Amino acid sequence: MIIILLGPPGAGKGTQTAALAKRYKLTPISTGDIFRANLNDRTPLGLEAQNYMSQGLLVPDDLTVRLVDDRLAQPDALGGCLLDGFPRTVFQAEELEKVLAKTGRKVDRCLLLDIPEKELMARLTGRRVCRSCSSVWHLNFYPPPADLICPLCGGEIYQRADDEEVAASNRLKVYLAQTQPLAEWYEKKGLLTSVAALGSPKEVEMAIEKALG
Ligand SMILES: [Zn+2]
Repeated sequence: MIIILLGPPGAGKGTQTAALAKRYKLTPISTGDIFRANLNDRTPLGLEAQNYMSQGLLVPDDLTVRLVDDRLAQPDALGGCLLDGFPRTVFQAEELEKVLAKTGRKVDRCLLLDIPEKELMARLTGRRVCRSCSSVWHLNFYPPPADLICPLCGGEIYQRADDEEVAASNRLKVYLAQTQPLAEWYEKKGLLTSVAALGSPKEVEMAIEKALG
């Protein structure tokens, strides 16, 4: 079984990835982990990627596809996997089809975590982080102490520039511009399942399980 998980920043994708992987015995695969592993091991693909990253350039689509291809050929990925962060574009989705076809595999489902934009903005802008130990709070769900001093390490709790209104709104715009064509592409193939990702992480997990059948 191969499942793709799409969801905006702030949708709790990390939590759901972990839960789904455990429940359906899938290997979670994210492009972030693939890059890190290849850079650490100084593989030829990793060095090629580093070449771009050290110049502040984006790793080109075709190199990302080769990195994913390499990862999907490893034994732990053959039993089924959950892809997070890939594909990001329709081109990557088409390439993924070719990569999987080599081993007679295909994408079984593309899960889209769907959250109204207003709710997402509240989630993103409500996040507060400790400057020293990176612990996370949330104004609505898990409020920080009133004095904004981290109870774990005494550090200052603050709002990351990324989470401020304008930056958060830009992150969402970028996400929507990227994801909409991709979601439509999977929709046309009859593979898209949209799940309303509202409520607690546990509730979202149940909604996903129900949607997957
Ligand atoms: Zn702290």
